[in-house]
Amino acid sequence: MKSLTLNNGNTIPQFGLGTWKSKPGEVKSAVKSALKVGYKHIDCAAIYGNEKEVGEGLTESFAENVVKREDVFITSKLWNNRHYKNDVVPALKQTLQDLQLDYLDLYLIHWPVAFKPEVNFPEDASGLVSLSEVPLLETWYGMEQTVNEGLVKNIGVSNFSIKKIQNIISNGNIKPTMNQVECHPYLQQDKLLTYCQSNDIALTAYSPLGSKDRPDSIKQEDEPILLENEVIKKIAQKYQVTTAQILIQWAIERGTVVIPKSVSTERIKQNFEAQNISLDAEDMEQIKTLNRNYRYVDGSFFALPNSSYTVESIWS
Ligand code: NDP
Repeated sequence: MKSLTLNNGNTIPQFGLGTWKSKPGEVKSAVKSALKVGYKHIDCAAIYGNEKEVGEGLTESFAENVVKREDVFITSKLWNNRHYKNDVVPALKQTLQDLQLDYLDLYLIHWPVAFKPEVNFPEDASGLVSLSEVPLLETWYGMEQTVNEGLVKNIGVSNFSIKKIQNIISNGNIKPTMNQVECHPYLQQDKLLTYCQSNDIALTAYSPLGSKDRPDSIKQEDEPILLENEVIKKIAQKYQVTTAQILIQWAIERGTVVIPKSVSTERIKQNFEAQNISLDAEDMEQIKTLNRNYRYVDGSFFALPNSSYTVESIWS
């Protein structure tokens, strides 16, 4: 499996398993199947509500000698209601307890959006806290503490713009190793990717298959279906593979990390095998033309009326 070297010399496997929306009853077997097939990287988050079951899958796999802890790269994310500096280490410790681990390979600030500590998901502006009240830099100092305490090997951000990363680089003590953002042929993120690559920050592509199992409440009725794109279908036919496999290998060939989610044993294997495909320059050129700056996860659910957050402010 290919890996990328992070700016601190550590490495990250370029391919991993996503776990958002993987139900507690399904995710344990998904994690176990993935590790059996050869996955070496699992992407988690406290807000996914399934870290305990992911942890059971990990622990059983280690006990069954499927893989060793040190050979799997495990990521989790700080939820928006733990942005105050002193809340970061306790939030991480809860995640470590749920995952049954004594360290994480990567911990990310999940969103550049803050909630009140007692609010899990705000229904109106009263549950939000503005970034002037709890600046991202304050949260970053809490993230740095997780590294200084030896609980996390690498720290980074998610859903951050160039401007927000620049602020962290200029004022923080530890440089972020990663920015995890939505990225696929309809949202190619050229500018952000170039910025990250030239600043030695890796980029993880989330929702690489178009996130079709998102809740209806955050879906547009007429959204484009990435897995059914005609250009991708043609390229898939050329190699006798699936469209999902083309999307995964495209992300790898662009030098990003990619974390497709699946709870199906068959698709977990299929996605893993995408790494055996090799796309040529013409395929890459054709896929390049598909960009339409389309976000499936557009952040509008945080841009609540009468709050300091707008869709534009979240992404700028
Ligand atoms: P994906 O783009 O990975 O798509 C997941 C969907 O594709 C599921 O419905 C899955 O179904 C299906 N699928 C998986 N493999 C195949 C295949 N080979 N053929 C056809 N369908 C397939 O969506 P996600 O939004 O889940 O993104 C991936 C991961 O990225 C997340 O799970 C999460 O870990 C991370 N993420 C991070 C975010 C952040 O804010 N940092 C935001 C969003 C995602 P099935 O399970 O039935 O196979």
